[in-house]
Amino acid sequence: MEKLEHPPKIKIRTSLIKENVRKILNRFNIETVGITKGVCADLKIAKAMIESGINILGDARIRNLIKYKRNFVVDLMMIRIPMKSETDKVIKYTDYSLNSEISIMKELSKEAEKQNKTHKTIIMIDLGDRREGIMPENLIPFLQKTIDLPNLEIKGIGTNLGSFSGVLPTQKNTQKLVELKNKTEKELKTKLPIISGGSTINLKLLEENKLPEQINQLRIGEGILLGTAGTQNRKIPYLNQNTIEIEAEIIEHNKKPSKPKGKTGKDAFGKKQKFKDKGKIERAIVAIGKQDTSPNNLKPKDPKIQILGASSDHTILDITKTNKNYKIGDKITFKPSYSDMLRAFTSPYIRKEYH
Ligand SMILES: *Cc1c(COP(=O)(O)O)cnc(C)c1O
Repeated sequence: MEKLEHPPKIKIRTSLIKENVRKILNRFNIETVGITKGVCADLKIAKAMIESGINILGDARIRNLIKYKRNFVVDLMMIRIPMKSETDKVIKYTDYSLNSEISIMKELSKEAEKQNKTHKTIIMIDLGDRREGIMPENLIPFLQKTIDLPNLEIKGIGTNLGSFSGVLPTQKNTQKLVELKNKTEKELKTKLPIISGGSTINLKLLEENKLPEQINQLRIGEGILLGTAGTQNRKIPYLNQNTIEIEAEIIEHNKKPSKPKGKTGKDAFGKKQKFKDKGKIERAIVAIGKQDTSPNNLKPKDPKIQILGASSDHTILDITKTNKNYKIGDKITFKPSYSDMLRAFTSPYIRKEYH
């Protein structure tokens, strides 16, 4: 097939991603698992993480981890609690998994015996976000049923905050995890050496010296990849934000009224749209749409450009206020949020360009 080199494209600056890893590793004394689900386990980005000091790569999809197993020698962590139907692959291709179901752990144990391997697991605790994890008071009975499962090593406990309900980590709720570990170790006369305390949002607590020091592992994706913490609406000041950008090309440039004309129904995605009457405005259409990313959230690098909306393949911009004289064929650069980035990497229509 002919090589297609046209936009839209994702521009990836791997050296800045490496710098983000080094900044986190040098600044904090905590084991950092590099999480790559936001970039569809892009091999060059994963390699950049490893080259800058990451020793464990984590991803939510087993196919991504299988790809890593074929390319890298680092430890691999399955960060979505495993499906029953993939336990054999989890054992075969990964070193660690996060778990919250006894029946799945029994399956993992059986598979590990079959494959003559030992697999390490971290038990997830729900500290309030109400995504995965057992309730703290259930940890001891849970461990009593799983601790002796053959070929499984329970290495510690962990939690995930911020992702589903947006509950933020605090000194108080993370301290709960430490207390739970201490109490459980004492009561069951066991050791839980790892406390995997969370993700990018926990960096804030670390910076403020409020993350209990027994929490010795974080699983970081967004901070490394974009230098941001979306849930906290935060640019992490010591990290690079211009790591990953999206570029699209102008295919129409026209002066048209800002208001649609005619009786309006729902748009192509079932939503009723509203438009302010700003008279005639300068509009540009760029060739990128909902098949490529979530265009409504993108941030144009030229702050005078405003995104009016998007359909599957078109994104409509108001460029009235810009000083630049945009022409057909010009490229517009956008900064993606985490979800824009995730969708862009998932789209087969966007080309990746490494710098
Ligand atoms: C996605 C995910 C992470 C990483 O989150 P970031 O906000 O990208 O740092 C960590 N742990 C689990 C379980 C996840 O699903």
